[in-house]
Amino acid sequence: MNQKTKRSIFAQFVLLIGILIGLSYIMNQVWVQKVETIPEKQVLIIEKSMTVTEFGQKNNLTSHILQNALDLKSQQDLNKKLVELDLSDEELTTRIDKASAIEAEHGSKDWVKILIKFGVWIIFLGISFNLLRKGKINPKVRKILYLTATIIFGVILGADPSAMGTVKDAIGLFAEKQVFFPPRMIALTVFLLLVFLANKFFCSWGCQIGVLQDLIFRLNRNKKDRKGILRQVKLPFVLTNTIRVAFFVIFTVISFAWAMDIIEFIDPFKIYKPEKIEIIGWVFLGFLLVLSLFVYRPWCTMFCPFGLVGWMVEKQSIFKIKVNYDTCEACQSCAKACPTTVMDTILKQDKVIPDCFSCGTCLEVCPTGSLSFSSGKRSKPPLGKFENNTISE
Ligand code: SF4
Ligand code: SF4
Repeated sequence: MNQKTKRSIFAQFVLLIGILIGLSYIMNQVWVQKVETIPEKQVLIIEKSMTVTEFGQKNNLTSHILQNALDLKSQQDLNKKLVELDLSDEELTTRIDKASAIEAEHGSKDWVKILIKFGVWIIFLGISFNLLRKGKINPKVRKILYLTATIIFGVILGADPSAMGTVKDAIGLFAEKQVFFPPRMIALTVFLLLVFLANKFFCSWGCQIGVLQDLIFRLNRNKKDRKGILRQVKLPFVLTNTIRVAFFVIFTVISFAWAMDIIEFIDPFKIYKPEKIEIIGWVFLGFLLVLSLFVYRPWCTMFCPFGLVGWMVEKQSIFKIKVNYDTCEACQSCAKACPTTVMDTILKQDKVIPDCFSCGTCLEVCPTGSLSFSSGKRSKPPLGKFENNTISE
């Protein structure tokens, strides 16, 4: 392979990242930027003889916070005295603290943008799902879809919301305030239902960081999308998943122990809000994006909390890659072309199957059409079909 090809891969990479960051800067001037912070615990002025209204006025609390914190049923309840509520000062402070946190979450969201994003996600994922089911995805179509998804869900509609953010922020808020923000839990349920419906289909075609890493990975693939132009490495799942579990545990422990969100410092989704990235974030992001040329979706497989949770759910997915062993010739073309080790484990029906991102590469390369993205259980390979077979590049 000549120097010109190498230079062309890196030139495309630099151009892509430069354009994405530049456009994201511009788009962030268009959308109103709201600050997302969890409020500090307030020291409240509490006198039991106060009415609820007076208590609210003294502490600058909205009637909405009072209503949620104190379970007020009607306007009349605002005239009740604090003593009638039969709450200790500590209990009162905790309730107000939780209600204020939920109110702050509400206020920090751009609800119009969120609704638009979910609407466009449904349309875009529906189209991609149909194309995959009909076997119409090829290397060119895949790149176009990934680029389109990167622009729409990342550059135009921004870093938030994201599937990763729903898990990360749910843990962060619960660790600090012991509350869940209901709309976030609904969003998380929707993302997990998508995994339940069609494997990591959302990650493959809808996640703004997933599609970007995949697009970068495909910049370094040959024309038929079967192997890397510059050497690409399939890391063992035991290694990537161990790192991912360890990272999840460390993140959770630090969230609960010190109320600190360590992902915030290195969050790659911030490529779509570059003005918020600190130096450590730029270093990590640069490393991650360059690594994506050689390793498939390093963030998803080694760090993403949703990647981990989704991997556990995808065992039960309805639609997934399945093998018809009656026609399969055990040539293992699919396992060779798959960007990770997952197709090898699907073929052999190993006990542990790594994340399958429903990218469809395996479907394209099977010479006998023995693979499908379909519903139902995977069958076991006939005895001896894959024994003594090692995958050679
Ligand atoms: S695993 Fe990857 S694609 Fe899925 S939510 Fe995380 S970053 Fe996005
Ligand atoms: S098995 Fe591999 S190639 Fe096939 S859809 Fe899953 S990740 Fe893609």
